[in-house]
Amino acid sequence: MPELFIAGQWVPAAAGGRRDINCPADGRRVATVDEASATDTTAAIAAARAAFDDGSWPALPAGQRGALLLRVADLLERDKQELARAESLDTGKRLVEAEYDIDDVVACFRYFGGVSGTDAGRVVDTGRDDAISRVVREPVGVCGLITPWNYPLLQASWKVAPALSAGNTFVLKPSELTPSTAIMLMRTLAEAGVPAGVANLVLGAGPEAGAPLAVHADVDLVSFTGGLATGRQVMAAAAGTVKRVALELGGKNPNVVFADADVETAVDYALTAVFLHSGQVCSAGARLIVEDSLHDEFVDAVVARARRIRLGGPFDPEAETGPLISAAHLARVEQYVAAGIAEGAVLRCGGRRPDDPGLAEGYFYLPTVLDECERGMRVVAEESFGPVLTVERFRGEDEAVRIANDTIYGLAGAVWTQDAGRGQRVAQRLRHGTIWINDYHPYVPQAEWGGFKQSGVGRELGPTGLDEYREIKHIWQNVRPRPQHWFSPPGANDGR
Ligand code: NAD
Repeated sequence: MPELFIAGQWVPAAAGGRRDINCPADGRRVATVDEASATDTTAAIAAARAAFDDGSWPALPAGQRGALLLRVADLLERDKQELARAESLDTGKRLVEAEYDIDDVVACFRYFGGVSGTDAGRVVDTGRDDAISRVVREPVGVCGLITPWNYPLLQASWKVAPALSAGNTFVLKPSELTPSTAIMLMRTLAEAGVPAGVANLVLGAGPEAGAPLAVHADVDLVSFTGGLATGRQVMAAAAGTVKRVALELGGKNPNVVFADADVETAVDYALTAVFLHSGQVCSAGARLIVEDSLHDEFVDAVVARARRIRLGGPFDPEAETGPLISAAHLARVEQYVAAGIAEGAVLRCGGRRPDDPGLAEGYFYLPTVLDECERGMRVVAEESFGPVLTVERFRGEDEAVRIANDTIYGLAGAVWTQDAGRGQRVAQRLRHGTIWINDYHPYVPQAEWGGFKQSGVGRELGPTGLDEYREIKHIWQNVRPRPQHWFSPPGANDGR
């Protein structure tokens, strides 16, 4: 069966393109899928446009759309193992991590299913007895959804679930490297009863299959998750039609540790903050910013444990983390580490591929700690998106905040201290979209997610995540319409 899903049909790419999908843990081919070009994406946009303009979906009572999303959640839960396995093969991540991801996908559909139909708008006091005024929310229209490879189904669900909940139609373009679970999601949506043309899927490279979603006049909103450079291109391309733009971009996230922190716990979380999924997490705590008096003890403890992290493929029960996504990405991470060392960073562990011959076919890179880093270094300023921790020192609260905010990004960060007042003070001063106090990484679909500064525009999840997919309309009704006689009232201006 072909893999593009357009107007409720599974169709092959018009130009016959195909792409092999390989597991990053061993290079093994796990699938071959259709590769769309702009022609296919344009057809998918037309299908979504027709389903929005002429179809039943946008006008369906929101509660009914919500019930359907809850059904989708149940079906995804039913298929959890199959989905997790496919996600692991495409990304190389451990099966257990992929299972957590699918749990989060299910929770996301449940949240947006549950909130459908709970907002009937607002009645406004006009101060007049002859007018009724209401503010209502309506679907934006056709949504172009572009997603990355690190959390393929999860990132797609953060867009698909609210888009459907609000009554939109969409075209999804997942990363060309990890399409499998997006294909499975389309099957699930069809099984749950989403009408033809409401959900469309194109697979393929960004500049060919993805770019039309930012440019095309029939797309009302483009929601993009991915890297900063691509985000800038999408935003610029969208300007031509002034469509709604939502961007979830990268981060260079500070993990700030004060000397009064619970050291054992903070060390433990410093490892998960940066090395989870081999650092391929937008909110990875890749900048450890530690109080000078605690520095030596803390970094020694982090390095001792980082050296022991076991790498392996998705189904290796001993593995604690997996490979990078591709050879190109591995080369990029290597360049960042080399640049850091050249600029004066001290390599404390890692900094190379593992020796284990069993990992030679995969894109593995050892957990790496670079000490004595400075803000001017490329490896500190830019997102390496790999298992690379940079360490900076601070003295006092003000300097901690200054260093942690000195980045073009603003996605997430953490502060570790046993002084509750300091935790709150620092959290308030950090210019990042999510702040954890004495924790790292948890999120819930009920709370907004997104970036300050160049980490993005808008928010996903929570009530604001639903609002991204809705237009606000003001409806005014004059209940006693009579002539106003503003111009040329009867009897005036008669002889002129
Ligand atoms: P990427 O920017 O290379 O690609 C993202 C998506 O955009 C892919 O589907 C790609 O095919 C598509 N694309 C590429 N060029 C395009 C173009 N010209 N027009 C339209 N689409 C195009 O990012 P990636 O390497 O897949 O993902 C890693 C990045 O994603 C990291 O920077 C990470 O921080 C970020 N990310 C952010 C969040 C968040 O919530 N803020 C979440 C996950 C990942």
